[in-house]
Amino acid sequence: MNLGWKFFISHLFVGAVALLVLAFSTAFVAPETFSMRMRGGAMMRNPEQHNMMMAGLDQEIERDFRESVRSALWQAGIAAMFTAALVSWLVSSRIVKPIRQVAEASHHIAEGHYEQRLQAPSDDELGELVESFNCMAQKLAATESMRQRLIGDVSHELKTPLASIKGYMEGLQDGIIPATPETFQLIYCEAERLQRLVHDLQELSRAEAGALALDLHPRNLREIVATVIARLRPQFVDKGVALTLQGAEEALWVRVDRDRIEQVITNLLGNALQYTPSGGSVTVTVSRTEASVRLAVQDTGIGLASEDLTRVFQRFYRVDKSRSRTAGGGSGVGLTIARHIVEAHEGRLWAESAGLGQGSTFILELPLS
Ligand code: ADP
Repeated sequence: MNLGWKFFISHLFVGAVALLVLAFSTAFVAPETFSMRMRGGAMMRNPEQHNMMMAGLDQEIERDFRESVRSALWQAGIAAMFTAALVSWLVSSRIVKPIRQVAEASHHIAEGHYEQRLQAPSDDELGELVESFNCMAQKLAATESMRQRLIGDVSHELKTPLASIKGYMEGLQDGIIPATPETFQLIYCEAERLQRLVHDLQELSRAEAGALALDLHPRNLREIVATVIARLRPQFVDKGVALTLQGAEEALWVRVDRDRIEQVITNLLGNALQYTPSGGSVTVTVSRTEASVRLAVQDTGIGLASEDLTRVFQRFYRVDKSRSRTAGGGSGVGLTIARHIVEAHEGRLWAESAGLGQGSTFILELPLS
């Protein structure tokens, strides 16, 4: 039962009690007063007295009647007031108590105690309020822990190149490290990594805030894939990894932001190249399902353990951190951003692998335009 009904019934109840008392008083108390008066008059046997009395009787009847009604109303009023006070106390305590609890809990949360939760008092609007409050508290707690983790991750990521640059500079100052072009190149690489990281962080924050501005147009996915492949082919040739495009020949129309989808495909192909040793192969397959267009990037590289299939989409997650670093790997946010971009297009991105050393497949699915 909702609150509107509860209020209505409680007030109706107050009115009904008042009316009941009024009805009871006028039905029993007033006539009794009258009959007492009349009985008193009949006992007087003197006719003169009787006539005199009759003259004043009208006035007396009226006065008595008013008196009776007034006293009845007084009784009704007092009873109604007590009932109203009792009912409103009951109702307001039912409403005010949970509201006060919500107010107190909000203060707690404002002070940083995100674990605060409340028990829903009933299944009406108050219950809904408390449930929304709990939901908000839960989301705030998740955001806060994400924020803390992000600060930890970012400082960890910044620490390594900074420590390395500082180490080189100290070595150069002390004359331990020779001031050769190679040394400067190493320092330059570390500075570049910092720059890449800052760029990735900007992208990530935009993606996570859902602030990716998408310029959506109907595009042929097959054509986009072919463009990216043509651009990256020289790197595949350099490393000795075969790259093939197969699947549907016809145009596959999707409504996308071309640059963003190119960014996703570049990331998938870049990873496939990075984690596939020379002599391996990468196959890109485009196909059409009933309502979507699918792009699969399959490699014969190092593969992924089943527990890493979802983790690789978490920010800063790298399966083998040291290998990624030494192999010039990114900061581990590429796939996180890619998934955000795909989800902003109402599509899906996921990974499949038969296990370590068995290659992996990254599948991108976009709704058919
Ligand atoms: P990174 O910039 O480190 O490549 P990504 O978010 O693109 O970051 O990838 C996260 C991690 O997922 C990588 O560090 C790597 O461990 C793993 N990974 C991504 N693609 C592949 C792949 N094709 N084969 C094996 N592992 C992969």
